[in-house]
Amino acid sequence: MNALTDITGHCLCGAVNLSAQVKNHDVDACHCSMCRRWTSGPLLVISVDGAIRFEGVENIGVYKSSEWGWRAFCKICGTSLYWHMSGTDHYAVSAGMLDDPSKLVFTTEIFVDEKPAYYAFANDTKKMTGEEVVAAFAAADNEGKGQNV
Ligand SMILES: [Zn+2]
Ligand SMILES: [Zn+2]
Repeated sequence: MNALTDITGHCLCGAVNLSAQVKNHDVDACHCSMCRRWTSGPLLVISVDGAIRFEGVENIGVYKSSEWGWRAFCKICGTSLYWHMSGTDHYAVSAGMLDDPSKLVFTTEIFVDEKPAYYAFANDTKKMTGEEVVAAFAAADNEGKGQNV
């Protein structure tokens, strides 16, 4: 049984607040070129599979960055809020938004094949190429909705 725990967070200016439930506190870093262009660094996220409750929805802008998903941001301060996989209830929420980062565990780095040479994390993480990530998402899709990868 997976016990769900609550997370809360907000953007830099406070115009967008969110709350959601998570299965774990694992953090993934994405090194892909889109995430790096979006945030000026790797995107560090926590997975939410299910509904996210927002306050300040009118301040959220969304941008379809690829056939895979949408990126949301605060229209006022520009904080990167989440990546949402098209056609699913899977959200990768910016770990930096969380009010309490104390439980977060940095576990995985994805799109390591797109990571530029000028930085590297010292954390001991699982590393996946873009190809491996796409394969894992496809496998999870075959097992049915709500499966995490
Ligand atoms: Zn904001
Ligand atoms: Zn990425």
